Amino acid sequence: MVNVTRAELGAMLNLRVDLIPATHPNRSGRNIAPRYITIHNTANSNPGANAAAHARFVRNTGYYLLASGKKNYVSWHYTVDDKEVIKHLPVNERAIHAGRGNGVSIAIEICMHADNDQSACDLRAQRLVAVLMHDLKIPASHVVPHKHWTNKNCPTLLLDNFSAFVAGAEAIRAAIMEVDPTIEGLPMPSDIVTESEIRASLDPAQQKEAQPDIPPEDDPEREHEWIAKAVEAFISEE
Ligand SMILES: [Zn+2]
Repeated sequence: MVNVTRAELGAMLNLRVDLIPATHPNRSGRNIAPRYITIHNTANSNPGANAAAHARFVRNTGYYLLASGKKNYVSWHYTVDDKEVIKHLPVNERAIHAGRGNGVSIAIEICMHADNDQSACDLRAQRLVAVLMHDLKIPASHVVPHKHWTNKNCPTLLLDNFSAFVAGAEAIRAAIMEVDPTIEGLPMPSDIVTESEIRASLDPAQQKEAQPDIPPEDDPEREHEWIAKAVEAFISEE
């Protein structure tokens, strides 16, 4: 593993910040102190279902319709494809993605569209996980698949060998050279994780409050399929 600084690793992510508007119903506005990282695959193999398409979905729609006609709002923190990472939410805000994992975890959606370079995409995701583990002091044992929280078969591409995905991220984290400037002992903040997000996430009082959620009433097994359908509408705008 080639040693890199935290700043160099951050630059490799090609991050774009495109936060969901604060007034949108899939913004919970509730603070969390994330102690886990939850990994998802989008379950959308349609050409063009990249990070940009998912960013438009969460900021313009952000829900899918249940059979009852009720809108089920969803959100997550980052989407990764083979070219970029898009950030949708502050990491210390509760997203709606994994039932009882919502109150304690950062959510990453990893793309899997037909025209995605999957190995490049997965490496980019591992680099993002390494940065988050480093900045927020999250151990490798707390990088978990969506299935950990709800038994859903997600992330579909990574479940069979999830430990290898985590080991790769951990190796990248371990190779970060501790030469970056720090602010009062905290990692130098960046757009990936801002100073206020780091402070909020590492606040002991906030961490004590953070507990896994009670599973919501509606946590349909087919969540990702419905999101995939909704995202299709945005692909044509590329
Ligand atoms: Zn998932």
